[in-house]
Amino acid sequence: MRTPDNDHENDKDPSCPAESLSGDSSRRAFLKNLSIGAAAAGAALMTGCVPGADAAANGEMRLRWQEFFKKNYRLMTQEEKDATVDRLERLAALNDDLDLQIGSEPPLPKVLYGYAFNITRCEGFMECVTACIKENNLDRKTHTQYIRIFEMEPGQLDPSTGDGKFFHEVPVDNKFYMGTQCFHCENAPCTKACPTKATWKEPDGIVVVDYDWCIGCRYCQAACPYFGRRFNWGKPEIPRDEITTKQHYLGNRLRPVGKMEKCTFCIQRTRKGRLPACVEACPTGSRVFGNLLDPDSEIRYVLKHKKVFRMKEELGTEPKFWYFID
Ligand code: SF4
Ligand code: SF4
Repeated sequence: MRTPDNDHENDKDPSCPAESLSGDSSRRAFLKNLSIGAAAAGAALMTGCVPGADAAANGEMRLRWQEFFKKNYRLMTQEEKDATVDRLERLAALNDDLDLQIGSEPPLPKVLYGYAFNITRCEGFMECVTACIKENNLDRKTHTQYIRIFEMEPGQLDPSTGDGKFFHEVPVDNKFYMGTQCFHCENAPCTKACPTKATWKEPDGIVVVDYDWCIGCRYCQAACPYFGRRFNWGKPEIPRDEITTKQHYLGNRLRPVGKMEKCTFCIQRTRKGRLPACVEACPTGSRVFGNLLDPDSEIRYVLKHKKVFRMKEELGTEPKFWYFID
């Protein structure tokens, strides 16, 4: 008669060498021993105590295991975030001899970022695009751009009707220019589409991606009505001497292949009180960035005193990116 106590007898497989080696060894016992061994090995690697192994290799392996088992960034305590970026810095030094300073700065209190773009002032120089590529460590091989500049016919206000690939001297008479990027929507459909909760809106309004939790399914990209996201199909290539070494975990750190990325309002700069690289680089002053909660900020001035509009307002996504005219 089978009882819960002797039920395991039916698990025995006579063809299994592990079970035929010892009379008292069941598959369950074998698997149990195996898992205890793996756990012990894992624990040893986590603590760096693998007898007889090279200390440096142990150290690197421990960092890799800790990386592998880390939480989603959003669920980490600030202490865990700091430990994570410290680990990434050490791995970059060990593997690539890179001296990176990766930050985990939290949102600043009482700050909600907003952006405005002056379509009467932009002359299509693309200085913003170049600065963004450099600042955010974008892949040079595929010429990935977070920002796009469209050359527009008078009267058009939808960038999809403009020329996003112009290659001639600018500005051209009787044309105007519109920039696009991630608009950091207040009601962002991209974040709702993510099956792994790898992308979300931070309290300061910046929509971010935890690259290590992104599985590359691209649902978020399909959900974005503004072409705000970029997927890296190949390992990003950046000349070593052009790598921006001051980074943020949720921003311009060097991304692995197969991840979704996008503009982060230069989180590595703005959370330290600096302007995004594109705003700083624009020679015509077309770009305005600031704190929407500060009534004295330039962005609030623009929203109050200029003629402003947002893209596809009818969708209810509430982009925190406005276009305006002087
Ligand atoms: S512009 Fe697109 S990617 Fe950016 S927050 Fe809005 S929906 Fe998401
Ligand atoms: S590509 Fe990454 S961030 Fe986008 S939905 Fe898939 S897992 Fe989420």
